[in-house]
Amino acid sequence: MINSMSSMPRRYCAATKADGQPCRAAPLRDAAYCFLHDPDRAEDAAKARQAGGIRRRREGTLGVAYDLQGLDNVAGIRRLLEIVVADALGLDAGVGRSRILIAAATAATKLLDTGEHDARLEALEGAIRLLQRQGLLKGLDDGLLGGPAR
Ligand SMILES: [Zn+2]
Repeated sequence: MINSMSSMPRRYCAATKADGQPCRAAPLRDAAYCFLHDPDRAEDAAKARQAGGIRRRREGTLGVAYDLQGLDNVAGIRRLLEIVVADALGLDAGVGRSRILIAAATAATKLLDTGEHDARLEALEGAIRLLQRQGLLKGLDDGLLGGPAR
């Protein structure tokens, strides 16, 4: 018996994107176009795009209102924890509030450890670079030193 799944050629949407490239999305079943390009679904696709835009704008507004810049650095995570703790302190006392505060304290402790390690690593890297500049340290792989040279 022939496996019809593997012998079927992969189909692509028949539309051309705004940049002139062919759309590489899979077309809808029994249609030549994908969800975004199917003329019969243009209204649905527009609604989906609009919802995505509203969500991104809302995220941006909230980020500014809370001075939240993202969670990819220690300062950003610390800011999030401050917000969580401030909110939790406004709740009625109880097990739920205690759990939030304990979780925040645990996360903050980890953050302190990380921040301290970062600071010590930076100091060590600075000392190594100084020794290298003075020609007192040779043969160390520069790839070991993270971040820009200071
Ligand atoms: Zn398409």
